[in-house]
This record gives sequence, structure tokens and C-alpha cells, in this order.
Amino acid sequence: MSVVIIGAGQAGLSVAYYLQTLNLAAGRDFVLFDRSPHAGGAWQHRWESLRLGDAHRVNDLPFLSDLGLRFDTADRQRPARDVVSEYYAAYEEHFALAVVRPVTVTGVTECAGDLIVATSSPVFGERTTATRVLVNATGTWGAPFIPHASGAETFLGRQIHTSGYTSAEDFAGLNVVVVGGGTSAIGFMLELEGAADTLSWATRRPIGWVDSEHLDLEEAVAAVAMQDTAARAGQALPSIVSGTGVPLTARLRSARDRGLLVPRAMFTSIEPTGVRWPDGSFSPADAIIWASGFRPELRHLAPLKLRAKAGGYAVAAGASVADPRIFFAGYGPQASTIGANRAGRLIARQVVAQLAAQP
Ligand code: FAD
Repeated sequence: MSVVIIGAGQAGLSVAYYLQTLNLAAGRDFVLFDRSPHAGGAWQHRWESLRLGDAHRVNDLPFLSDLGLRFDTADRQRPARDVVSEYYAAYEEHFALAVVRPVTVTGVTECAGDLIVATSSPVFGERTTATRVLVNATGTWGAPFIPHASGAETFLGRQIHTSGYTSAEDFAGLNVVVVGGGTSAIGFMLELEGAADTLSWATRRPIGWVDSEHLDLEEAVAAVAMQDTAARAGQALPSIVSGTGVPLTARLRSARDRGLLVPRAMFTSIEPTGVRWPDGSFSPADAIIWASGFRPELRHLAPLKLRAKAGGYAVAAGASVADPRIFFAGYGPQASTIGANRAGRLIARQVVAQLAAQP
């Protein structure tokens, strides 16, 4: 195979679409493996109460409008996971992207100049595929991040990460602590307000409220630039929200005014039945929800030893700095639906150039 793409989220589909426009065919020149059972990338795994209207903005895949579909005109009250999964499925079919699923890439190694992609699947079994170029588009959903907290292992209640959240009903009548300074944490606080018995909100940094109804584009540009700088330097990626701040919409302002969205500085320790705050006070807790973000999911690339000394992966314009045969779609500055689209165009061209450059 000339190209293997790992991951059929917005980034992988976008790369596949643009490869086709450059005369590479799915099944003949490239193959797209995805671990998840259905179309929809990570969106299919998000919780039901996350409505399309609650998402920041889901940008259309390249030329999705050819199918008469647009996220902007979709029903904003429907679960985001349902709408995105339906639209991606229609897109894959319309452009014949032939995604092979469910297939998990378990490791990538090198052999005689080829990259060897090892896969495992309940349908196809264990296989390997040799490829000349690899596009990694595995997103972050499979690599939830929970910071170290003293005493966490002694907690007798329930601890979940954003990736395990299903609905507010699971926390009815409980004392809940939500950790995190981003949109997911805020969404959980709003949802749990009527369900939990008590609610506390802990953040590691003060919230950078921005006086705006929407994400300020200037701020977003600066945040993306921060990601790009870190990616190029091979450093760990900074959190997006630390660069953009949180727009204080009328809904959030009212929640803040009624005392709901008032964060406390991160607790200093977790005890069996609650959390201890920096001022020494104690809050009983039955559940802790860690809305503490994700990291790029790159375990399967470990055998290639691409990690830079600075701790991250050095990636410039979607291309690995360490190995020109490897591309990272949806990484760092491309980690949004609009960034993933840009990744597709940018990476597909470089993939074709790399194939031409190889003997
Ligand atoms: P994903 O959608 O995560 O797709 C990666 C795919 O790779 C998955 O299908 C997965 O099954 C597959 N995969 C992973 N590992 C393997 C493996 N080893 N083998 C095979 N397959 C594998 N962005 C926005 O632009 N707007 C928003 O409103 C927005 N809201 C968000 C809300 C939340 C809670 C989160 C966590 C993120 C949000 N984002 C949002 C960011 C969003 O995730 C990206 O914008 C985009 O959807 C990510 O696309 P992707 O293709 O990079 O990754």
C-alpha cells in the first residue's frame, strides 16, 4: 500500500478526500483504518446530552455541501454524536472512502524501508500492512488525561473522566466535584445543577472569562499559534482553553451570578469521603468528574521512537520533523474541525510529493 491513514475522524476523512482529488484511490493506493464501530470519529462516543447547539462549532467536512448537508442548518437540539455520525457516514459513502473498521492499529514498526502497520480486529483478526507513507489521525479521545492528585486512590466514591460521562442522572442526589476549566467542565456544571445534591467546581488555573458571546477569533488565532509553536519545537501541547479563555455568554453569566459557575482553586488532596481545599476546609464528595482534557493518542507509534527530547512530537505543517514519511493530521494547531479540514489539504499534497520523492 502507498499510504495508510489511521483514524476516520474529521482529520482522517479530510486527508482521504484530498488524496482522492490527487488521483489516489481508496483500496488501491490508500487504506483508512478505524478502531470505532461506526462512522463519526470521536463524536460517536460523546454523551447524549451534548447537543449540536452546545458544541463550539462543528465545521463541515470538505465539500460536505455536495451531499446537501451542512452542520449550520442541522437541528441544533439533536445530540451532536448522532448528527456527526450520520453526516460522516453519508460522506464516506458518497466519496467512496472505504473505511475499514473496526480495526485497531496496535503498533507501527520499520522493516527494510517500509513502515509496517500491525492491526487487530474482531472481524479481520491480526494482520500487518506494509506502507510507504503513514498518516496518523487518531485524535485524543482514547488518551484521557487525569492529573495526579494526592489521595486519589483512597477515594471511596466514583471517579470518572469526561470520556466516561453519560448523563446527569448518574449523579442524581450525589455530592459532586467537577474538575477542569474548559467547556466540558462548564457543561457538566450546568447539567448537574438540577440533579446533584451539592456541586463544587475546582480548576487548576483561574478561569480566563472573556467578555463575549462567542470565541474571539483573534484569541483563537493566538491559541492556534501557541499550539503550532509547541508542535514545531517538539514540546508537549498547551491546552487550547489556556489560549482562548472562556466566552462569558449570557447563559454563563447568569450561572455565575447565581453562584453556580464560581470555581475554587484546585483541592490539595482527596480523602476517602471527599476533598480537602487549600484553606483546610473539607467538602464531602460521592463523585469526582475529571474534565481535565486529553492528550494526543500516539501509543502505537512508540516503536518508531519519534518523540523529541522536549517531550512531544516535532510536527511542522502536519509533517513529522523526524521522519518525512509520517504525517500527523489533526495534531496541535489542527485539533479542531476546521483545523482538521486544513490538515487534509495540506497533508495530502505533501503525501503525494513524498511518494514521488521515494525511490
Ligand atoms: P477524532 O474525531 O478523535 O478521530 C480519531 C479516530 O481515530 C477515531 O475514530 C478513533 O476510533 C480512531 N483511532 C484512534 N486510535 C486508533 C488506533 N490505534 N487504531 C485505529 N483507529 C484509531 N472541535 C470543534 O471544532 N468544535 C467543537 O465543538 C468541538 N467540541 C469538542 C468537544 C469535546 C468534548 C472534545 C473532546 C473535543 C471537541 N472538539 C471540537 C475537538 C474535536 O475533537 C476535533 O475538532 C475533531 O473532531 C477531532 O477530529 P480528529 O479526526 O482529529 O479526531
